[in-house]
Amino acid sequence: MIYENYSLKKHNTFGIDCSARYFFDYENNAELYDFLRNDFQKDLPFFVLGGGSNVLFTKNFAGTIIHSRSKGIEIVRETSSDVLLRVASGEVWDDFVAWAVEHNLYGIENLSLIPGTVGASAVQNIGAYGMEAAQSIVAVRAVNVFTLEERIFSAEECAFDYRHSVFKTECARNFCITSVDFRLRKQGELLLNYGDLKARFERSEEQNLQTLRRIICDIRNEKLPNPEITGNAGSFFKNPIISQEEFTQLQQKFPNVVYYPAENGQVKIAAGWLIENAGLKGFCVGAAQVHTRQALVLINTGTATSDDIIALAQEIEYRVFQQYGVKITPEVLYV
Ligand SMILES: Cc1cc2nc3c(=O)[nH]c(=O)nc-3n(C[C@H](O)[C@H](O)[C@H](O)COP(=O)(O)OP(=O)(O)OC[C@H]3O[C@@H](n4cnc5c(N)ncnc54)[C@H](O)[C@@H]3O)c2cc1C
Repeated sequence: MIYENYSLKKHNTFGIDCSARYFFDYENNAELYDFLRNDFQKDLPFFVLGGGSNVLFTKNFAGTIIHSRSKGIEIVRETSSDVLLRVASGEVWDDFVAWAVEHNLYGIENLSLIPGTVGASAVQNIGAYGMEAAQSIVAVRAVNVFTLEERIFSAEECAFDYRHSVFKTECARNFCITSVDFRLRKQGELLLNYGDLKARFERSEEQNLQTLRRIICDIRNEKLPNPEITGNAGSFFKNPIISQEEFTQLQQKFPNVVYYPAENGQVKIAAGWLIENAGLKGFCVGAAQVHTRQALVLINTGTATSDDIIALAQEIEYRVFQQYGVKITPEVLYV
């Protein structure tokens, strides 16, 4: 369906009231191709939107929003050890995780309850509790919206990194993902080395995939505001990665700094700690606020505009840099 001057309020988890000149949603690839061939206005900007849980609309969108409602989980191949699944881009990510856990398939359980769609999971390389989508993705199918070229990106071509993939770069910016292939395992070890996951798991009567999913959902519900009630986009900032040298200096000044080892001897700093330790929990600009329980999350207390949220984010970036000399950047995409 194509809609004109369409409200995006229900299509972004910040709940920002803005609109798109054109909004096109489709249930299957045939509808998408038909639209791209006949109705797509190539001279206007376009944006592929999933669940809108990682975007901040800064103003009305003067072009076309393309939105997948295409659903389906197909078993492509099965061996004694694993299953290859093709999942449609519009499938709700957490419905897919629930399906996998129900079928005793390992590989994405720690990513339970992350909002959004399967298509975006590959764009973002979503991650939580020591697991990333990239560890299970084997290929991504996409179509170039201008040329209608269909392409299968291998996992290597996806160039996954921390909350990053080729789909965030110029070379794949014109592609709309139609489905993602995942290889999930029939047996596996559970990843419990995060926070109090292990302690909670060991206290449970039954110790299996289902238990782990339930515990992760419980922890997330305790820690994170529900976007259906309080507008937010999860972690607003990425955890900054700094050199060992910079880290040593930072740790001398701030011995309690929370950090994790990163690749190539670098160090990843918990952005939430930097913000909280700068005394910014609860800090407001207009109706935008740093969440009082989780400093990495910025919330819309009800009537926040995108300007409020941007001003709050800028103030946080400035104060964090002043205090620690560390630059933090948004994970959320400004559109
Ligand atoms: C409460 C909360 C908790 C969160 N927790 C986590 C977490 O633990 N870990 C984590 O990694 N993220 C987390 N997030 C962020 C968010 O859920 C993820 O980034 C998610 O993958 C976004 O999915 P989406 O469908 O909403 O994508 P959108 O926000 O709609 O889009 C995100 C990006 O993907 C692109 N995109 C979407 N669909 C397609 C497609 N079909 N083809 C091409 N490009 C596409 C968009 O253009 C955009 O660049 C959280 C968000 C919230 C609100």
